[in-house]
Amino acid sequence: EAFNANVASAKALNAFIVETPEKALAAADAADKAKAAGEALKPLSGVPIGMKDLFCTEGVQTTAASHMLEGFKPTYESTVSKKLWDAGAGMLGKLNLDQFAMGSSNETSYFGNVISPWRRGGGDNAALAPGGSSGGSSAAIAARLCPAATGTDTGGSIRQPAAFTGISGIKPTYGRCSRWGIVAFASSLDQAGPMARTVRDNAILLETMAGFDPRDSTSLDLPVPQWEANLSSDLKGKTVGIPREYRPDGLNAEIAALWDRGIEWLKDAGAQVVEVSLPHTKYALPTYYIIAPAEASSNLARYDGVRYGQRELPDGAGLQDMYAATRAAGFGPEVKRRIMIGTYVLSAGFYDAYYTQAQKVRTLIARDFEQAFEKCDLLLTPTAPSASFALGEKQADPLAMYLNDIFTVPASLAGLPAMAVPGGLDSQGLPLGLQIIGKALDEQGVLNAGLAIE
Ligand code: GLN
Repeated sequence: EAFNANVASAKALNAFIVETPEKALAAADAADKAKAAGEALKPLSGVPIGMKDLFCTEGVQTTAASHMLEGFKPTYESTVSKKLWDAGAGMLGKLNLDQFAMGSSNETSYFGNVISPWRRGGGDNAALAPGGSSGGSSAAIAARLCPAATGTDTGGSIRQPAAFTGISGIKPTYGRCSRWGIVAFASSLDQAGPMARTVRDNAILLETMAGFDPRDSTSLDLPVPQWEANLSSDLKGKTVGIPREYRPDGLNAEIAALWDRGIEWLKDAGAQVVEVSLPHTKYALPTYYIIAPAEASSNLARYDGVRYGQRELPDGAGLQDMYAATRAAGFGPEVKRRIMIGTYVLSAGFYDAYYTQAQKVRTLIARDFEQAFEKCDLLLTPTAPSASFALGEKQADPLAMYLNDIFTVPASLAGLPAMAVPGGLDSQGLPLGLQIIGKALDEQGVLNAGLAIE
């Protein structure tokens, strides 16, 4: 009942900022020609893909959903998007997102919020958030506008929107996908990954997107495994940990029930299930909301009106005036909030109290995972503390919005692979997502458990 009730027209979702059907068609034509000529097809020949508008695409406007970059046409192609085109895929367009990937509902976009194709059952017509920041990607896939899209995940931006819209998405181990040509938010956390309807599609896409890139100093110099060929939903011999700190008092009953179902599915697939502890979990959110804004404030210093996009040059203005006017007009309120938090925690008087402290806690969180993984191979948790919420519902309260990231930020801080897979519908008919977190470099284990749940 709920599904697609909202798709009066694809445009109404506002999922795309720029459409490039000619590029998708060119890829389809190339695939047809290759087929007719009896040539071998490439892994993604003719597949139309939506690109989150955080990936620089040569000659095609790239905005990070910010007024600051409106009209910016990069002269280069991001490594990840280039790999997709080299594998035969074609770009369908640039997908909407939260401005500079800061947000959990897609409402911080300069180009207007995306609308989820889902509605609650029972005649409730409230427009719902597709999640964020990769909300254009999740809405477009859920509404069947494209079979696959790219996302980026700094603190949950692939996983939470996937959960909100009933699709799958994987954030690989930090360093698997090159960050080169992706508009930077928080460089020590940012990771690209695929979003698609099935676990298998995610495996196929990730194989193309991943791989060493000398242009990203944090890129992992490792071969890309054959994740798709090795997919298996047989979890015999695997132990799955259930972190007790992810079940706080007051956990939404439907989310708790979802989690219990997930545990049963993994047991049915042959896994052993044990309880584990990640004692520093409660510090993950405050740690993330110090480190991510700190890095953002540094990364976003480049938007000064000189080198990229917008420039505001009031009459008689000097250089400082131009910087101030450009940044005042170019950045949205959430971006400004993050820059202010970031510059505050990095300032001489507060650096040790906040930033250094947060870095230490980040290490403790990473150690929690290492210790838990001495007792298990994978972790199973919910992806988000609730189903999708109504647009506008949390907009006035940044803290309520940040709380939505509570289950996704720990794996980001530890750089671990993590995936969201659909776990069924809640009592209002909305999708809920389960999250699987793996050891560093164990995308295979994560994908296999995802397949067992799917
Ligand atoms: N919602 C989180 C934030 O606002 C995560 C965003 C992301 O992963 N890009 O920072």
